[in-house]
Amino acid sequence: MNKTGQTCGINTEVFEQLKKLQNGRCKTCLSPLTDDTRHIIVDRLEMCSDTPIIKGLLCADCKAKVEIVRYYERLVPGLLRYLST
Ligand SMILES: [Zn+2]
Repeated sequence: MNKTGQTCGINTEVFEQLKKLQNGRCKTCLSPLTDDTRHIIVDRLEMCSDTPIIKGLLCADCKAKVEIVRYYERLVPGLLRYLST
């Protein structure tokens, strides 16, 4: 938790509920989330509305991988079209 009582941009209650729902594990690799919130990332989609959609809690490694996949995901349709011609 940071100095303002917020954890990764959401309040502590929501953060703890998410962590409990995920059994204290990263949503993708299922490794245990540490108590050190610096290593826990709230993954959210912000492009659809003013209210971000929280997808889950990830470990820092998985968050980095998710961002890479999101970047390359945009290229996939063009690559598939190219490969099919
Ligand atoms: Zn992970």
